[in-house]
Amino acid sequence: MESRLLDILVCPLCKGRLEHDRQRGELICRADRLAFPVRDGIPVMLESEARELDETPAAA
Ligand SMILES: [Zn+2]
Repeated sequence: MESRLLDILVCPLCKGRLEHDRQRGELICRADRLAFPVRDGIPVMLESEARELDETPAAA
């Protein structure tokens, strides 16, 4: 159920597909270099809540 939900999520900024980082529990937009948090299984698709990806992207 959760993976199906995440499968249809797109970035609110660029409308691109998001990558699900299961280890960190984040949804990654590589175009915007932002990571959106997932809290209690609910993706928080707010730019204000997103973390900037300023580090080397983890190998998928
Ligand atoms: Zn984006």
